[in-house]
Amino acid sequence: MEKERLIAIRRDLHRIPEIGFQEYKTQQYLLNLLNQYPEERIEIETWRTGIFVKVNGTAPEKMLAYRADIDALSIEEQTGLPFASEHPGFMHACGHDMHMTIALGIIDHFVHHPVKHDLLFLFQPAEEGPGGAEPMLESDVLKKWTPDLITALHIAPELPVGTISTKSGLLFANTSELVIDLEGKGGHAAYPHTADDMVVAASTLVTQLQTVISRNTDPLDSAVITVGTITGGTAQNIIAEDAHLEGTIRTLSEESMRMVKKRIEELVKGIEIGFRCKGKVTYPSVYHQVYNTSGLTEEFMQFVSDHQLADVRTAKEAMTGEDFGYMLKKYPGFMFWLGTDSSHGLHHAKLNPDEDAMETAVNVMVGYFSKYAN
Ligand SMILES: [Zn+2]
Ligand SMILES: [Zn+2]
Repeated sequence: MEKERLIAIRRDLHRIPEIGFQEYKTQQYLLNLLNQYPEERIEIETWRTGIFVKVNGTAPEKMLAYRADIDALSIEEQTGLPFASEHPGFMHACGHDMHMTIALGIIDHFVHHPVKHDLLFLFQPAEEGPGGAEPMLESDVLKKWTPDLITALHIAPELPVGTISTKSGLLFANTSELVIDLEGKGGHAAYPHTADDMVVAASTLVTQLQTVISRNTDPLDSAVITVGTITGGTAQNIIAEDAHLEGTIRTLSEESMRMVKKRIEELVKGIEIGFRCKGKVTYPSVYHQVYNTSGLTEEFMQFVSDHQLADVRTAKEAMTGEDFGYMLKKYPGFMFWLGTDSSHGLHHAKLNPDEDAMETAVNVMVGYFSKYAN
């Protein structure tokens, strides 16, 4: 597929950003393009607002897969670009419009240039939330079309175009949302002895939570607890009877995630006793770490470098989350960063990735699949 065509598709998709499990127009747009290919070359199955696409091999014994996430974010776009979002309040600010376009570019190549093995493409909804990878893995489609290897990429605004970056082992951290509710006894601001103040309890708890990182986490390991919001109380002269805290936990291993959660729950128990209240801890959405299969990942990096498909760098672990981790828990494979050179980062209202990067990505994946699916 020519570069101009890739850019035109990406801009079409950029205009119609939709959030998790609402990707109706996006799904229809993808289906319209995919349905133009001859039936003997391609098989299509929808799954909720997502799509599975199998590009048939000539004598298949294996199946190699590529996953593209398709959802956008609730952000008001501020790029001022002529192809900016036509959906007020929503924007493709995480590059998933590019991830989809790259998948279409790879599909187009292999429809016209068949290889021995089957290739499977997963257009996955709801990566940003509530999480589409885990439920999509339960689909019956994956019982008949089971990948032997799965790959994915994510745009990286901080890397130059023509560059990819990855590593074997841990690439993205374990992440978990954190919600804590405290319920005490309200009262008149001038009679603190008759009430149990949840603003004081919540403030104490936030300070204590940081000791989980500084005092319970191995200094050579790494973890983050961020409390992003606190709400509580109703008026300046009333003692608050409740407090609500929301935050996130990030860890480099599953063991530290378990430890951090256990400590948070213990500290909340302490707050219950210390402040005579009821505490409740919940984790509304949890993303498994992205752990690249060693061997496969080094082989991929070496291949891309040897064939000069891109400049290959070794990545560092990121404390961000990615639900592709669930797919790598089930199938061997890897994820990599694709340099897109933008002065604004992911999830920024002015993110404007360089569209030339899509050609690099298509070349990398076409090269890799041509070798390993033959
Ligand atoms: Zn994102
Ligand atoms: Zn993303």
